[in-house]
Amino acid sequence: MSAPSDSQRPPSPTSGSARMEKIVSLCKRRGFIFQSSEIYGGLNGLWDYGPLGAELKRNLKNYWWRVMVHERDDVVGMDGSILMNRAVWKASGHEDTFTDPMVDCRSCKARLRADQLVEKKGAKQCPVCGGKDLTEPRSFNLMFKTYVGATEDESSVTYLRPETAQAIFVQFKSILDVSRKKLPFGIAQIGKAFRNEINPRNFTFRSREFEQMELEYFCRVEEGMKLLEYWKEERLKFYKNIGIARDKLHVLTVPDEERAFYSKGTYDIEYDFPFGRQELEGVAYRTDYDLSQHQKASGKSLEYFDEETKQKFIPHVVEPSAGVDRTVLALICEAYSEDQAPDEKGKMETRMVLRFRPRIAPIKCGVFPLLKNNEQLVAKAKEIVDLLRPHMSIFYDESGAIGRRYRRQDEIGTPFGITVDFETLGEKDSALCDTVTLRERDSMKQERVAIKDLANLLVAQIS
Ligand code: ATP
Repeated sequence: MSAPSDSQRPPSPTSGSARMEKIVSLCKRRGFIFQSSEIYGGLNGLWDYGPLGAELKRNLKNYWWRVMVHERDDVVGMDGSILMNRAVWKASGHEDTFTDPMVDCRSCKARLRADQLVEKKGAKQCPVCGGKDLTEPRSFNLMFKTYVGATEDESSVTYLRPETAQAIFVQFKSILDVSRKKLPFGIAQIGKAFRNEINPRNFTFRSREFEQMELEYFCRVEEGMKLLEYWKEERLKFYKNIGIARDKLHVLTVPDEERAFYSKGTYDIEYDFPFGRQELEGVAYRTDYDLSQHQKASGKSLEYFDEETKQKFIPHVVEPSAGVDRTVLALICEAYSEDQAPDEKGKMETRMVLRFRPRIAPIKCGVFPLLKNNEQLVAKAKEIVDLLRPHMSIFYDESGAIGRRYRRQDEIGTPFGITVDFETLGEKDSALCDTVTLRERDSMKQERVAIKDLANLLVAQIS
């Protein structure tokens, strides 16, 4: 007996906010993302990733590392500390200028970013209560301040890093020396960053603690603008390869007046989230600003020596800087869909499905014995689990009707399902002995596959 087959219908349209509500609730219900410290009422702008969210995030980071570091000869990785000498943040400009203009609403006491006020009939209003009694904008530094060591005074102040990039700049010379790379070359890093955002919002989109995936790609001055274009295109390819539709991505050329003063060109790669078009990643040509600043402030040379021309100079840098959490959210939003599929009795019902690319999906394959009270079916299914587990994340499920087990996996985006049935045991047709049903999540199509071919077949599709 084979598992029942399903059919597919086009997704039903839902409005942005209704869609977002469903996504947030699915994330909680199935263990992708929870509010941090939830049992104590949470803490605004902070999130915990549950079992599936942690897998999804790890798959994204691993794929970024693979593409940006392992598959290239010209990039090496590093893993810097979160706390650094305060002098780093003085030299980089963060201590003085990493600020948002902030306004308080005197009516409801909300603290708001000045650029997020709503304007009605020429007057600025509080987006929370509609009040017009607002303070003048004041600068608010987004870095979290902390103290290192036993004394809490000015001499022990530092900050949780607001970006990972500065660790790369201050180690530029050491990494250049040990890696013996020639320009152009890059240093990549994935790690936590912290910003005391005034208004964390849109689920994990704007958080106070988040992860970044950053590459600093060092080059000669004359290569800067060309490499800016190159990295923008590379990064667009990356998003395509993790399953984000090209037509939902937009490249914004950041206008001169909004760019950091030292940048000669910046692109924002934006995604159409259900709550609007928002930045996923910035690709910026930062010139030689950061290295020059650190060389000046530290008094240590951060120059590159060109053996051919015998010249010494400070390299320029192009930086693709992506947010892990924002990309995870984009992946979930992109994957979320609903269609119609028949239930156990053939009646059509709404199916919730996360259409993750197999390489990104938290669980790659579900394994199901058709009946849980049949020892032979269970033993065979467990054999398959053992066979596949070294290659991928597996979920073994023996409880409930097979159709319901498929639905549970569809909902968390598992691309493949393997069902062990009586044909696997060779009871009906000896030719089918040691074959299983392999079901594909999106098409719901099923085919018979020999157990011995499963690992190769699946590994080819998830890598
Ligand atoms: P925004 O304008 O949305 O505040 P930004 O331009 O300040 O972002 P960058 O400093 O360029 O962001 O940081 C690079 C990337 O880090 C962003 O594209 C984003 O993916 C991620 N990022 C920045 N701030 C946050 C945050 N508060 N929460 C989650 N991710 C963030």
